[in-house]
Amino acid sequence: MNDVPEVRITKANHRDINPNGDFILYWMTVFRRSHWNFSLQRTVEWAQSLKKPILVLEALNCDYPWASERFHRFLLDGMADNLSYFQSHRISYYPYVEPAKDAGKGLLISLSEKACVIVTDDFPCFFIPQMVKSVAANVSILMESVDSNGMLPLKAADRLFLTAYSFRRFLHKNLPDHLTQMPAREPLKEINLPPLKHPPESVFKSWPLASHNILATGSRSLSDLKIGHDVKPVTKGGPLTGRKILNSFLKDRLTRYAQRRNMPEENATSTLSPYIHFGHISVHEIFHKVMNTEGWFFDRLSERATGSKRGWWGVGESAEAFLDQLITWRELGFNMCRHRDDYDKYESLPEWAVETLRFHEMDKRDYIYTVEQFENGLTHDPLWNAAQIQLVREGTIHNYLRMLWGKKILEWSPNPRIALEIMIELNNKYALDGRDPNSYTGILWILGRYDRPWAPERPVFGKIRYMSSKNTARKVRVVDYIKKYAPKKIA
Ligand SMILES: Cc1cc2nc3c(=O)[nH]c(=O)nc-3n(C[C@H](O)[C@H](O)[C@H](O)COP(=O)(O)OP(=O)(O)OC[C@H]3O[C@@H](n4cnc5c(N)ncnc54)[C@H](O)[C@@H]3O)c2cc1C
Repeated sequence: MNDVPEVRITKANHRDINPNGDFILYWMTVFRRSHWNFSLQRTVEWAQSLKKPILVLEALNCDYPWASERFHRFLLDGMADNLSYFQSHRISYYPYVEPAKDAGKGLLISLSEKACVIVTDDFPCFFIPQMVKSVAANVSILMESVDSNGMLPLKAADRLFLTAYSFRRFLHKNLPDHLTQMPAREPLKEINLPPLKHPPESVFKSWPLASHNILATGSRSLSDLKIGHDVKPVTKGGPLTGRKILNSFLKDRLTRYAQRRNMPEENATSTLSPYIHFGHISVHEIFHKVMNTEGWFFDRLSERATGSKRGWWGVGESAEAFLDQLITWRELGFNMCRHRDDYDKYESLPEWAVETLRFHEMDKRDYIYTVEQFENGLTHDPLWNAAQIQLVREGTIHNYLRMLWGKKILEWSPNPRIALEIMIELNNKYALDGRDPNSYTGILWILGRYDRPWAPERPVFGKIRYMSSKNTARKVRVVDYIKKYAPKKIA
């Protein structure tokens, strides 16, 4: 097993390690998996060098924004998978589910008093950076945060990229060095660590381990938690399900990806985004398996950093197109979150976009809807309503329709700032993959981020790229889609 590359490790504080502690604590917050995980691998490195056991804490708060049964169930499915994996590898795993706001306060500090060092996940978005900062300041031992987000380490790009093209060029020049530094497939395999002789019983007593009942799929015990209960569970989560979906994508859908990915009725995309978002599957694993399927080797990489979407990897058309979404587009958003604290704010839009939207702010809108009308799919447009209903019912919208969905919110809101608020609210409340750097890439793209001015200049949109339901219906088949997601008739 190679060492975790230094560029992926950040000291979250400057405290010392406690060599007399009972264990190495891995506080798993984002990369919620046992495979292809640099944070877990770093924990193993510490455990081996200090000859200490590992304790993995995977906690689930109840007061994060938009917490609901939908996201909890998905995360709990992952915790059930992790429990069985860690148990079978004789690693102490501590699943904690916070029953009510603030009930988990103090857990980490108490646990840290018995630990040698804490390793946690480095994620540049949502509440995670603030939470890590605050814990790091309050523990008395060294805490490291480790970046297992993507193929390019966050710290490897020391500037902000404003277009996919410039970022892709940067990747073409700089990514090859990092492709040889993959995380261990299974960092706990064949390692010999001492057992945890002194489990932190007093901590377990104050913050009890999650019950098997709550981890088991289908359990009703979510109703007791202080989370939103209107947004219901949909798909099964967890690393095991994520891996199954990846395998079926590689077997049945990858070859159709380039030609069919923009066709909502074709099911040609991977549908992996929720699993990637919740850390149940790693981009490294996906990359590794795609390249295995393609029989790829390093010498196929083009030596020319052209920034072109196609041809750089030296694999088939579909795999190239897929990697461009998975790596270029996905990691572009991570780069934004890393470099700008206001990644989710209107002010972070490019100047030309702010200017053109300001110029057209007072334009007459043919329709204006409230957030409730949007939320309930009550616009005049059946295709838009179908997309929103799919989001509410299934926690997802196909990418092509997701673009249309956002463009129409811009068109039918009182002004672009309110449109931004509505998009963030609906996307993050219902989408399984929401609350992610990609969420802000997609939503702010609607308003001009990563895009260029388009002609002709139109009312409301100005120079922002325009999309219409009519054109969408001409380009892709949506008849069955509209039927499938028609509003339910009230008897
Ligand atoms: C308004 C709007 C909101 C969006 N909100 C989110 C969100 O909350 N979370 C989210 O993950 N994606 C979001 N996207 C991007 C995109 O819609 C989804 O990533 C994609 O539909 C996920 O489906 P998939 O896993 O089948 O993707 P695939 O086509 O199979 O792609 C593989 C992976 O690449 C990444 N990816 C694909 N398309 C994009 C893209 N356009 N931008 C960045 N990364 C991409 C995702 O991680 C995805 O899982 C949004 C797009 C728009 C226009």
